[in-house]
Amino acid sequence: MKAVVTGGAGFIGSHLCDHLIGQGHEVVALDDMSTGSESNLEQLNGHSRFELVKGSVLDKALVDEVVATGDTVFHLAAAVGVHTIVDKPLESLRTNMHGTENVVEAAVKHGARYLVASTSEVYGKNDADGLGEDSDRVLGSPLKSRWSYAAAKGLDELIAYVHGGDSGLPCVITRLFNVVGPRQTGRYGMVVPRFVDQALAGEPITVHGEGTQRRCFGSVFDVVPAMVRLLEAPAAYNRAVNLGGLEEVSISDLARRVVELTGSASELHYVPYEEAYGEGYEDMRRRMPDISLAGALIDYEPRWGLDDIVNSIIEHKRAVPSQPQAALAS
Ligand code: UDP
Repeated sequence: MKAVVTGGAGFIGSHLCDHLIGQGHEVVALDDMSTGSESNLEQLNGHSRFELVKGSVLDKALVDEVVATGDTVFHLAAAVGVHTIVDKPLESLRTNMHGTENVVEAAVKHGARYLVASTSEVYGKNDADGLGEDSDRVLGSPLKSRWSYAAAKGLDELIAYVHGGDSGLPCVITRLFNVVGPRQTGRYGMVVPRFVDQALAGEPITVHGEGTQRRCFGSVFDVVPAMVRLLEAPAAYNRAVNLGGLEEVSISDLARRVVELTGSASELHYVPYEEAYGEGYEDMRRRMPDISLAGALIDYEPRWGLDDIVNSIIEHKRAVPSQPQAALAS
């Protein structure tokens, strides 16, 4: 495989590059280094089958040039993290819409199969017991920046899907549910690395709202190989497929688990949503995937439980103490 990974210097993208290189493939990562970092790719520095191109998916000519070198495209580049979306709505919208358009159009032009990474955010406030791929989307106003992310990602899926149908190229959309693991930074909002940073520093653990909102965290080590396998499974073509974990936890229980697993003396500090994200912010009460489609298509079965996931992040953060701590006040 000659793979192009957009967002290859990011958290999930860099693990995908590692995985593809480990499988013997050639990889070109395209990243504008906005939320990605060179340290995520340190281990691939100088590797003969790996190249990092610094540039934006908004640069249509560059995207065309890079995609032309590959036969497979993994499109992961996106404005990510609730704080990024809320603080930079226009920039985020541009990246998430036009960036995807550029990448998918280039893949189609050059006859490359492609995967577009979407998100569980597309289901919005639907808090059903196991969101299946055909579940309804329940979104607030598109004028609220939080929902603009789901709106843009919904359009991304459509761009991928319609081009996939028209071109007949193998194409897969993956909806990722709270994927976490080493290298993820807490700077843009993600809760697990933030809690681990806070616990290791002995700072208060900032639980938003009452901490009763529930999530199901998935390990990057389960999800990344599944993304590659889905692109090799014809039955998955031109479909959206949920990927994530199965162990549901409330955010306050997650905070307690992190405190326990780090052996920290930190205490839980409850922060009102408006203080964390500004006035009018709406959170998802619950987000739980049904992953049976991935199970049927590629025998997907998460191997990493929550404690293993949290421990892997603690271990990484202890080993890389120079990683910046969460820069946000709350
Ligand atoms: N959260 C929290 N404290 C933090 C960061 C996040 O309580 O310091 C909460 C957040 O409000 C949400 C959940 O943790 O209810 C998951 O947040 P994240 O941004 O990781 O993912 P989301 O599911 O919101 O996309």
